Amino acid sequence: MRFDQYFEPATVEECCGILKEYGSDAKILAGGTDIVPRLKNKIWRPKAVVGISKLPDIDTIAVSKDGLVLGAAASLRKISLDQSLEKNYKVIMEAAGHVSSMQIRNIATIGGNACNASPSADAIQGLIAMEAKAVIAGPDGNREVAIEDFFTGPGTTVLKEGEFLLKFIVPAPKAGTGAAYKKFAIRGDTDISIVGSACRLILKKDGTVEDARISLAAVAPKPIRAAEAEKLLIGKKLTEELIDEAAEAAAKHCSPISDQRATAEYRKQMVRVWTRHAVKEAAERAEQAE
Ligand SMILES: Cc1cc2nc3c(=O)[nH]c(=O)nc-3n(C[C@H](O)[C@H](O)[C@H](O)COP(=O)(O)OP(=O)(O)OC[C@H]3O[C@@H](n4cnc5c(N)ncnc54)[C@H](O)[C@@H]3O)c2cc1C
Repeated sequence: MRFDQYFEPATVEECCGILKEYGSDAKILAGGTDIVPRLKNKIWRPKAVVGISKLPDIDTIAVSKDGLVLGAAASLRKISLDQSLEKNYKVIMEAAGHVSSMQIRNIATIGGNACNASPSADAIQGLIAMEAKAVIAGPDGNREVAIEDFFTGPGTTVLKEGEFLLKFIVPAPKAGTGAAYKKFAIRGDTDISIVGSACRLILKKDGTVEDARISLAAVAPKPIRAAEAEKLLIGKKLTEELIDEAAEAAAKHCSPISDQRATAEYRKQMVRVWTRHAVKEAAERAEQAE
């Protein structure tokens, strides 16, 4: 591993200053599960590595009546086990808990999962389902971006030079909300997803779908919403046939590639199967919600 400087800024301003000074020659280090192998294998040769663990509140997990704040360096294991999330943010726990093994989750962070921008990233799927916003710190202050707009392609994000991801804010869910994330991989969670599907439903008291969000992992160059499937559900009461139709629409409108894990055709079939499971579980949770 070769780099000239290692920094551990104590303030957001200091961090942005270092990032601005070094520009594309600087890399942030959070848990290191993605970046360290690249440094070791000399795929990346930054001049400066910037550790963010000393920044104030960077690993916070804070629930209030307005919603949830997750610091960018909150570890996936802490998120997956934090009982304060169980009632309203279970899908965020669930998605974080599906990332690899306990050893990886112990050090990997939610911000790293987003900034690595892998199309198959699991943890951010819970955030997309729950309408999270990414708060980005930069030399001119903070800005907010809807999490699904944070990604620009495989491995790329909207972050500009001098900026880093500070935290996520997730609005408190409306009454009648239920959400679930389903990961499909051959060797379980230790394996990278062939397909991931997250669904969040808001059900009215009479069972009509007030709002639906479905997002998919590993079937496009970046995480995507299944807009056609969502539209089919909104304003209707859920039936087996309607859920099938929505799952079919999600499969039809995604654009997976064939790789060593699965063919594009198989991935589409799995989108249909796992979106169905995600919608059904989201509906069950919504029915039980207050
Ligand atoms: C064996 C193994 C198995 C894995 N399995 C899975 C899996 O099943 N599912 C899955 O989703 N992922 C998986 N991953 C990938 C990885 O663990 C996750 O993406 C993890 O969440 C990354 O977090 P980190 O804190 O380790 O990031 P780091 O490695 O520290 O950083 C990742 C990238 O994001 C940048 N970065 C980090 N934090 C910030 C920030 N706050 N602001 C700006 N840039 C930042 C870094 O510069 C780097 O480019 C696996 C990795 C390994 C090694």
